[in-house]
Amino acid sequence: MKKRVGVLALQGDVREHCNAIQKSGGIDSLVRRPDDLKSIDALILPGGESTTIEKLLHIFNLFHPLKEAINAGLPVFGTCAGMILLAREILDGSSDQDSLAAMDITVRRNAFGRQVDSFEKELDLQSIDAGVVTAVFIRAPWIERYGPEVEIIATVQSDSGVHPVLARQGRLLASSFHPEIVVGDRYGVHEFFINKVAS
Ligand code: GLN
Repeated sequence: MKKRVGVLALQGDVREHCNAIQKSGGIDSLVRRPDDLKSIDALILPGGESTTIEKLLHIFNLFHPLKEAINAGLPVFGTCAGMILLAREILDGSSDQDSLAAMDITVRRNAFGRQVDSFEKELDLQSIDAGVVTAVFIRAPWIERYGPEVEIIATVQSDSGVHPVLARQGRLLASSFHPEIVVGDRYGVHEFFINKVAS
């Protein structure tokens, strides 16, 4: 049976994820209210602005229901701002920035610096059967620390070292880049999330 994959639709690039879900064999479903969480098998937290999405999660009374759903085993894929929302700890966040603290990672916001606010990078994702993809990074975070349960799937080298940009912890997946923006027609990271992480 096809999986129903929700996309948190408060802010950010929601439509692109819906398209990627459809192309990856799932059924997309918008999540705006706590009740919307009841009918989904998995959830994507899109890129956008993590401080804004976090505030909207509280305003729409979704923050705690979402945390509970994750604790109860809901598979979640956080992309870019969504990765920040999943992280246990945020560096360079706004002073009162809260997170769902679901994944044992520390992320640094806007980590790749101003001169490379946005860039593309070839990533070898053959270990998850996604081939080699051109990953798009837009004011992207990186993972600066991760716990023993976290598996690093891909890294990017910068002047300051090697930085994890795709990681999995059980039913949780997080990417620094935007997997909903692809060259071609295959959404390999979405396929991995829907068919492997969420099953
Ligand atoms: N820099 C943004 C943030 O802190 C994330 C950017 C993105 O999602 N493309 O939320």
